[in-house]
Amino acid sequence: MALVEHERSLAVVVHGGAGRVDPATWDDRVAAVVRARDAAWSRLASGASALEAAVEAVRRLEDDPLFNAGVGAALNREGFAELDAAVMDGEERAFGAVAAVRDVRNPVELALEVLRSEHVLLAGEGASRFARERGIPACDPRELVTERQRERWRRARRGEAAERSGTVGAVVLDAAGRLAAASSTGGMVDQRVGRVGDTPLPGAGVYAEAGLGAATATGHGEYFARALASWRAVLALRERDPDEAVRHALNEVERLGGRGGLILVDARGRTAWAKTTPEMSVAWRSAEGEGAQIGDEAWV
Ligand code: ASP
Repeated sequence: MALVEHERSLAVVVHGGAGRVDPATWDDRVAAVVRARDAAWSRLASGASALEAAVEAVRRLEDDPLFNAGVGAALNREGFAELDAAVMDGEERAFGAVAAVRDVRNPVELALEVLRSEHVLLAGEGASRFARERGIPACDPRELVTERQRERWRRARRGEAAERSGTVGAVVLDAAGRLAAASSTGGMVDQRVGRVGDTPLPGAGVYAEAGLGAATATGHGEYFARALASWRAVLALRERDPDEAVRHALNEVERLGGRGGLILVDARGRTAWAKTTPEMSVAWRSAEGEGAQIGDEAWV
């Protein structure tokens, strides 16, 4: 697709989770990440910052019940959703995150409020109170629960292999050269109450650094946290090209025993992603081109 001059330096990558996904949902998942990518792109094209565009993409996927974020999040051991989200702006190295929140439909918006505050991470009840202070209304926790996740949860409780995927994330480079990353998740199905993975930890689930790049991760969070996977991918850009940088970080996660995926954009607008799971829904667009994928074959 032809780009107008000021779009030449823009780049967006969006993912909808790595794991094993029911093939009956592939079309819908790919269509949703493409829509989220395009929404972020049009915000950028009309002058929004990388941070605003990344939040836009993630908010849209939080609202889509197919994904493990916001409405449709995975259920924990007691059958309710506890949500984590994070945003990072590479310019000021500003970071905001929330963890284990039970009553917010769009935790990425709350993470953005945390970024604008003096804090970095707010959890649980305190994060909910902060949401009210910032004018973000409480939702009934039951509004976050979908029949699809209830079924996944029942299967996990019975010890059957459950589909594990659907965390969402976005990385963006804007026309002013600013880099940002955002992510949102309900964590792992049937997780212990209070368990928090990599998503809201700076450098683990989300990282952005001016002049280098922005990355966000999905997968078994404990391993991504210990590998500081997003930070590792961005820092690797000092010596590696973007494809090698994401693979380098995923190799480290795999060495520790974990699997998942990473998306990345660098300061020159080059995009990359990689996965060590069978599927990961991803959509990208930059001056180099655009596309979307879920398995190993290019989708569009
Ligand atoms: N990384 C998330 C977590 O461990 C889950 C995922 O990406 O699927 O909470």
